[in-house]
Amino acid sequence: MKNRNRFRGKLNIKLRYLTLIRILVAFMAFALILVLQQAGISYNSSKFSDNYLGASEVVNKQTAGTTKCLLLYDSQDLVSNDAIVQYRMILKDMRVAYDEVDVSKAQLPAFTSYKNVVIAFTDINKIGINAINLLDWVENSGGHLLVWLPMSKSTVFQAMFNKLGIDDMGDTYATISSFKAVDGFMLGSGTTYKIDDAYEVAMTVSLTDDSRVMASTEDGRVPLIWYRTCGKGRVVVDNFGYTGKAYRGINASAYSLLDDISIYPVINASAFYLDDFPSPVPSGDATYINRDYNVSVAEFYSKYWWPDLINLADKYKIKFTGLIIENYGDDTDGEVYRNNSLGDYHFYGDMLLHMGGELGYHGYNHQPLVTDERHYDLDDLGYSVWDSEDAMYKALKELTEFSAQAFPATDLSVYVPPSNVLSPAGRQLISKKISNIKAISSTYLPGSVAYDQEFEVASDGIIEAPRVVSGAIFDDYQKITAFSELNMHYVNSHFMHPDDLLDEDRGAALGWPTLYKNIDNYCAWLQKNAPSIRQTTGSGMAGAVKNYASMGLDISETDEWLHISVSNYMGPAYVFVRINNGAIIKDIYGGKIEKLTGNLYLLELNGSEVSLIKKTD
Ligand SMILES: [Zn+2]
Repeated sequence: MKNRNRFRGKLNIKLRYLTLIRILVAFMAFALILVLQQAGISYNSSKFSDNYLGASEVVNKQTAGTTKCLLLYDSQDLVSNDAIVQYRMILKDMRVAYDEVDVSKAQLPAFTSYKNVVIAFTDINKIGINAINLLDWVENSGGHLLVWLPMSKSTVFQAMFNKLGIDDMGDTYATISSFKAVDGFMLGSGTTYKIDDAYEVAMTVSLTDDSRVMASTEDGRVPLIWYRTCGKGRVVVDNFGYTGKAYRGINASAYSLLDDISIYPVINASAFYLDDFPSPVPSGDATYINRDYNVSVAEFYSKYWWPDLINLADKYKIKFTGLIIENYGDDTDGEVYRNNSLGDYHFYGDMLLHMGGELGYHGYNHQPLVTDERHYDLDDLGYSVWDSEDAMYKALKELTEFSAQAFPATDLSVYVPPSNVLSPAGRQLISKKISNIKAISSTYLPGSVAYDQEFEVASDGIIEAPRVVSGAIFDDYQKITAFSELNMHYVNSHFMHPDDLLDEDRGAALGWPTLYKNIDNYCAWLQKNAPSIRQTTGSGMAGAVKNYASMGLDISETDEWLHISVSNYMGPAYVFVRINNGAIIKDIYGGKIEKLTGNLYLLELNGSEVSLIKKTD
């Protein structure tokens, strides 16, 4: 207790000192805005707004070139059924053209037609003698085999597992509560990522000496990803076992060990969203603001929270995207009223714009665009449904007009659904009637009522640019999700709310200094592991997603060169290049390469034809 009081005493002195600095910073920023406004300088934010796609131009994640991968799954295997949903998406995002065969229903085609074969089921007996043929193909024909799920122990598997790099195998599965990649394998390697709700999921194995382990549990006892040269070919085993959306980047990284040089498109963008900002001062439980600062909620935001975010933006070159709420009422009948108290909107919004940030749409009020409550338990969230589609339309229209009135010199194009809830009717309304909205940023991870998205362009031309992590608590699940997406899409997308500080579930009791420290730690982790990732706004992210999702890749290769042909090249585009065979790139035409870590590179494609010339002796 005594220690705590002493700590609090020190904290108070420090806080008082910081307060002065913060007020000064906020004052100077505001003074600068006034100067700039008088000088007639207008905002310049939505960099991609004139470059969105019309519905007729949409081409999404097209795989080009010849089919080179055979994906084997088993519709009678529960683990396989879960995994295949994610694995299809991983292959689509990596632009791998593949044939899919259900081993419970169909005969296997000849392996010789493929470069890569993927086993995404758990009982090898399902393919009988073909298991032996498969290994022959790897050894003698130079095939690449990925075992993408932990296998069950059986006589057949025991007879072949040496060739997969397994020396011995236990009878039970191991509980996997952590993941650690070796240095140089993935972005963010070297850190241990803990796993929430761990269960028995991985084979208990010891490996042969010629296996190369790329990831294991923290204590190193259970190898999770390894590869081995097998005759003329290569085998990769992904023993991680978890296949949810939050782990795609881990499973994709295992796939990227298969080819001699593995290439897949990435987004290369980092964005931070501030939901409900600007908005009227949120109401809620101010207990912890009183405890730590003894000021009103409004004062807390202007004197502490916002100056801290200005510092954060400055330190990490963040371009915040603020999402406007016009009022916190609960009217859902379509009768709308203009909010004429613009003081806070200008104070915060103008500063945000002048920091290189951007504004987007969040809501006329915070009631999600839902008219049919059967599908959404909005009551649980404390919301009501709208009377009709027309009522939703009137509210959205009011929001766009209010935003244009408050911020006449900037374009808004990104919509964030309140509470990440958006019904099909609301989604259609946006597409048909609110032409200002070019991109929707809801959430990447699925939730019971969430509008969850992939990074893609929808068939109506609207860009789906989901947010991946949120808030300021950063639990284990958030950390491993952020790590996974850095490696899957080379993306960071984070959102938080000013009223996190008013909600115990979102960490209010921890207090703002702790929450701010958490955010700072997250930004530091990101900066350390992706120092050159593009810092952008919501519309910048949308533009990056558009370029990424539109492109198709066709890769041809000889001993001397590797050529990438991009279909639907839309502008700056990026791919990860993982060099597994030790090749050295001597020259590049049409692009620029940067080493990220170990054998992983980022290649910027300057046009639709790019050639890498390999060093030959
Ligand atoms: Zn919100």
